[in-house]
Parts: sequence; structure tokens; C-alpha cells
Amino acid sequence: MNSDKGHSRPLWVLAIHGGASAIPPDLSDAELQAIDDALQLALDIGAKMLVSGGSSLDAVQAAVRVMENSGVLNAGRGAALNHDGFAELDAAIMDGRDRGAGSVAALRHVANPIDLARLVRDRTDHVMLVGEGAEKFAQEQGIPMMPESYFITDRRRRELDRALGAKAGSTDSVSPSHSRGTVGAIARDTHGNLAAATSTGGLTNKHFGRVGDSPIIGAGTYAENGVCAVSATGMGEVFMRLTAAAEVCARVKYNKQTVAVASGEVIRELKSHGGLGGMIALDAAGNIAMPYSSATMLRGQVGSTMKAQVLGVKMKEGQ
Ligand code: ASP
Repeated sequence: MNSDKGHSRPLWVLAIHGGASAIPPDLSDAELQAIDDALQLALDIGAKMLVSGGSSLDAVQAAVRVMENSGVLNAGRGAALNHDGFAELDAAIMDGRDRGAGSVAALRHVANPIDLARLVRDRTDHVMLVGEGAEKFAQEQGIPMMPESYFITDRRRRELDRALGAKAGSTDSVSPSHSRGTVGAIARDTHGNLAAATSTGGLTNKHFGRVGDSPIIGAGTYAENGVCAVSATGMGEVFMRLTAAAEVCARVKYNKQTVAVASGEVIRELKSHGGLGGMIALDAAGNIAMPYSSATMLRGQVGSTMKAQVLGVKMKEGQ
């Protein structure tokens, strides 16, 4: 998975993911194409910024915003629906320069949660705002708000109906199902700064008010200059308990593991606790690892020494 191919180190790199889990067999070619297009566009927009000397923080935010707007991934419009039938959105962004971070959770109306997370980092003394208070802050900042219906797509409605139907037909309680499509981005810019961003609707049929790992700094999102940047996707509860993203960076920092070994071991450990999923991780030199234990993980990478590449969408062997 190491993508540092040339002898010279990459000046800049960007890796993204569009979530870990199986691709539903009923996904049409048009839907697969739309996912592929969204990932490609996220890489293109982020790369454009990095190639011209832009910051990794701006690039990961821009890449995630594209994926939130796509309508085909589990973030922003098209996010997974909770048990009560509406989307509750979580996001986080972290700046490796000073480990400054902003995060938001349980949003119902903010079109681009990643933009609000960025504003929490830039314009407050806090790290995390949730629910009504976060949305009040969004209104104060004048960022676009949408009615709940904006976020709901037919596909997510069908997924929730299936989950609710499964529950009705069973005497056991059915746990929330893992929804394909959480999005994330990590980058190293030409100045050597690292950043990470993650955005999600969480799990289909989750309890009203449930928050997963994505907006929890150190669980689903982490960046530290000179060490590594991580954005995760998968069964959030396990990623939170094992502080997955921070664990990868601690192994790189203290155990001197490569980012590939560190992230691979953490993914295996998560799996042994029932936490299927994946992550994208990147070290200070720009080496990328993208391990996963789920059936697949939508993902992509681009850099000053490698062409843009989207993987996992068609589930080809070896991708
Ligand atoms: N990790 C996300 C959560 O638990 C879900 C996902 O990545 O698919 O909220």
C-alpha cells in the first residue's frame, strides 16, 4: 500500500475514503459511476489546491465538502438515516501544525458539516459543538442550512426501511447497520504540514443522539505534524473504545513503526473487537496506507509523484 514510489519523496499527497463496507449488490451502474465521479472530483479539487502550494487543512476540507455534496455517500446530502428517519451529521477536522481541531456532532440542518467543524477550530476556543448549540453557531456564522428533507435520499430511506423491517420481523433487537459511505481525507502539503478531516451520517437506524468515532479527535480523526494523519471509517463504537486514529499515530511516534504496519495492526486489533472497517493514514514523508477489514473500502490517492487513482468502487480483485 506504500505509494511513495519514486526515489524522491513526494512534495505533497492527498488520500481520501468514501467509507468501508460491502457495496450493495443492487447499486446500479449509474450509482457506481456517481460514486466514482465524486471521489475523482474530491481528488482533483484537493490536488489543485496542494499543487499550487495550498495548505493541507484547506485541501482536506475541500475534498470532504465535495463528497458531502455528492448525494451518493454517507455524509451531508445522502447521509444514513437514524431510527427516527432523519440524518444526524458528524464531522471533524484537525490541523497537524498545532493539533488544533474542530468538531461537530448531531447536526440536522447544516449542509456542510466539515465547514462548521473548520469554523469551530478557527473561530471558537472550543473543540467540539453538538446539536442545537452547534446549529446556533452555524446560524451566527451564516453558513448554509437546509431542511431535513434535503439530506434524505430514496436509497437511504430504503436502507432504513429494510433495517426497521428486519427489526419488526425479529424478536432480537437489531443493531444499527453499517452504512457505506462515510467520507474522509488526509493530506501533506508542500510545506510538510499534515491534516485530516472526516464527515459522516453514522450508522443506519442508529439511536437519536448517537455519535460515532468520526468527530471524536483521536478516534476517527487525527493529525500531528512530523508523525501522521488518519481518517477512519467503520463500526464507530469500537474505533472510539480503541482510540483508533491516535493509536496509529502513537505507534508511528513511539514504536517507530511504519504507517503501513501501524495502521494494519490497529485494523486487525479493531477487527478482533468486532470493529470492521478501514482507515487512510499518512506519515510525515507522505507514505500512504489504506488498510481495511471490511469487504471493501472506497478510496483514492494522488500526489506530486503519482497520478490520481480511485479504488474499491467496482470491487475488482486486488483493489
Ligand atoms: N464510523 C462511522 C460511525 O460509526 C460510520 C462509518 O464509517 O461508516 O459513525
